[in-house]
Amino acid sequence: MKKAARRSGGDGGDGEVWVVVEHEGPDVAPVSWELIGEARALAKELGVRAAAVIIGAGGRELAGPAFSRGAAAAYLVSGPKLDPYSSDPHCQALVGLAARHKPQIILLGATTRGRDLASAAATELETGLTADCTALSIDPEKKLLLQTRPAFGGNVMATIITPNHQPQMATVRPGVFPPPEPVPGDGGDIIASRPRLKTTAVSVKQLEFIPDSGNEISLQGAKVIVAGGRGLKAARNFALLEELACELGGAVAASRAAVDAGWISAQRQVGQTGQTVRPVLYFAMGISGAVQHLAGMQASDIVVAVNNDPEAPIFEVADYGIVGDLFAVTPTLIEEVKRRKASAGGNGGALRIETGTQK
Ligand SMILES: Cc1cc2nc3c(=O)[nH]c(=O)nc-3n(C[C@H](O)[C@H](O)[C@H](O)COP(=O)(O)OP(=O)(O)OC[C@H]3O[C@@H](n4cnc5c(N)ncnc54)[C@H](O)[C@@H]3O)c2cc1C
Repeated sequence: MKKAARRSGGDGGDGEVWVVVEHEGPDVAPVSWELIGEARALAKELGVRAAAVIIGAGGRELAGPAFSRGAAAAYLVSGPKLDPYSSDPHCQALVGLAARHKPQIILLGATTRGRDLASAAATELETGLTADCTALSIDPEKKLLLQTRPAFGGNVMATIITPNHQPQMATVRPGVFPPPEPVPGDGGDIIASRPRLKTTAVSVKQLEFIPDSGNEISLQGAKVIVAGGRGLKAARNFALLEELACELGGAVAASRAAVDAGWISAQRQVGQTGQTVRPVLYFAMGISGAVQHLAGMQASDIVVAVNNDPEAPIFEVADYGIVGDLFAVTPTLIEEVKRRKASAGGNGGALRIETGTQK
């Protein structure tokens, strides 16, 4: 694979801030839009353009939405081997594009696909990569990207720089940055290319694509999340949380302890090594509130904690704390939600949740 020219300290080149837009046909991973909003702010500070990189079919349809969210340019890369996503061809496409246009920053979502592509591309580009950032900013003097992420088990926040190589690359968890409001009518430059890819370098063949079952609400889109921890005591007890989530139109999530116990799938884990969520309402049921869990949910608008230990750290971040046995409290909550939905005419639209003792 052709390597990008290695250069140091920002000499020459276009110096744009790029976001690789993750998409499955017309469906864009929300983190890509979140990153375009952030890229626009970073690019403004650097006095350069923010640009979207859209690899695979359907790029033209996605350029408009990217412009409306703050990109000033869209690089569309199409051609055989680029659909569906596969590491090698996408890596070749991104590395070739970066070699030609020399962005100073490339951002990707810290999703399964983003992590895969970012690490492969950073290796080929011989540059650094900071994974799972929770904050990004620009050093006002050196104009370097300050990439902040939890380190040492979440006990410290490390700020990492890539001073000697470009592009500076980072992945960012979904939900860390707010999605920008689309401003219809904002246009931008389209730079389309059809690179010739080395098929001999393609070592992976996709045999089948099995989509999610579809009966689970994504944690990223959920307005209400009911999360359970070790206090649930067994996999079967998650049925209680599912019932509450169902009544509230929400999704079920978990702490790592519950995931490690095999009670629920790892896709449902919230926290430093799970997902970052920002629902309107987050229930923490039988979750102690370890710093690694808080890292993934403390941007929630309202946190309701149910725990039988009055000293549990989760109460420090809870807006409403209920000291009690979750096996007694949860059925009461479910009944109360049902009652209010019934009295609101069955549609639940006027449901207002008031629970427990405010801390
Ligand atoms: C590098 C690293 C990364 C990590 N990443 C994550 C991560 O992404 N997400 C994450 O969650 N953790 C993560 N952890 C683990 C984290 O440190 C904690 O161990 C974990 O969050 C604890 O899960 P928990 O709160 O469910 O369990 P516990 O800490 O055991 O808490 C269980 C709670 O349930 C309460 N309880 C028990 N019975 C009842 C009952 N009947 N009713 C009400 N309350 C009850 C208890 O009082 C207790 O507070 C990570 C750790 C490391 C080292």
